[in-house]
Amino acid sequence: MFGRCPNAASVSPGWRRWRWLLFGGLLAIGGFSAADPVAAEDAPPSEPVAALADDDALFVLGNTLFVLYHEIGHALIDELDLPVLGREEDAADGFAAMMMIAEQPDPLRDRLMIAAADGWALVARASIDGEVPLWGEHALNRQRFFGAICMLVGSDPPGFADYAMAAGMPAERIETCPDDYRRMKAGWVRLLAPHRVANSQPDALQVTFEPPAAEDAGLDQLAQSHAIIEHAVAALRPLVDLPRDLQISFRSCPNAAAYWHREAARIVVCYQLLAEFENLLLAGRRL
Ligand SMILES: [Zn+2]
Repeated sequence: MFGRCPNAASVSPGWRRWRWLLFGGLLAIGGFSAADPVAAEDAPPSEPVAALADDDALFVLGNTLFVLYHEIGHALIDELDLPVLGREEDAADGFAAMMMIAEQPDPLRDRLMIAAADGWALVARASIDGEVPLWGEHALNRQRFFGAICMLVGSDPPGFADYAMAAGMPAERIETCPDDYRRMKAGWVRLLAPHRVANSQPDALQVTFEPPAAEDAGLDQLAQSHAIIEHAVAALRPLVDLPRDLQISFRSCPNAAAYWHREAARIVVCYQLLAEFENLLLAGRRL
């Protein structure tokens, strides 16, 4: 289970500054190229993406993509019987960061990952970490916020140092993030290397967007907008030879959740989760 708090009550006004510190005023948006951390030269070319003037959609999609990759991380650990040192939830967050962080300059992917990091800041401020049980499976929301930032600044210290400092990360911690990022990525690359496939398996990871309930109308279109989710999943297919086909289902659920269902070989992302990300954004704007 992903474990985001569904409540968005109070958000620091500082978040908007962080969000746009580096990319405010950005006019040209690139394509979502396939994220292949194992061998970038095999990655398919970038797909053109329509003009993404809708910052709200980008915020929701960035957070949704992080959740989806996080759940795929759980699925890979299960399906490939991968060893995990430390908390599995941290490993799944690392997988999501690795897949989302671009190796080369890529403004769209940068913005999606920054949206995901900012999402953790909003969740932390909305839920107050005191409500997160210290014995829980996940790190505290604020720790996941700084964890995402550490991965970003670790991947590109000159590019993201200002962002990390504006978020409150001290310089001495920023200096250690490149090692954290390298180790996290090297671990995943090494574990996935034996499972690479020569040819992409189109059925290995199928994404379906089920018709939403009436109250979730429009969220299915948001989930499919700019084909970001489809491209992100397509980027995974060459990486892993899965023992069985897995389904990724976007659907209406009783709660705002996302989860990996081992018995059903299915990852579910609830449309309500997208609505929750929208609500987080609106709550931030009210401050
Ligand atoms: Zn999880």
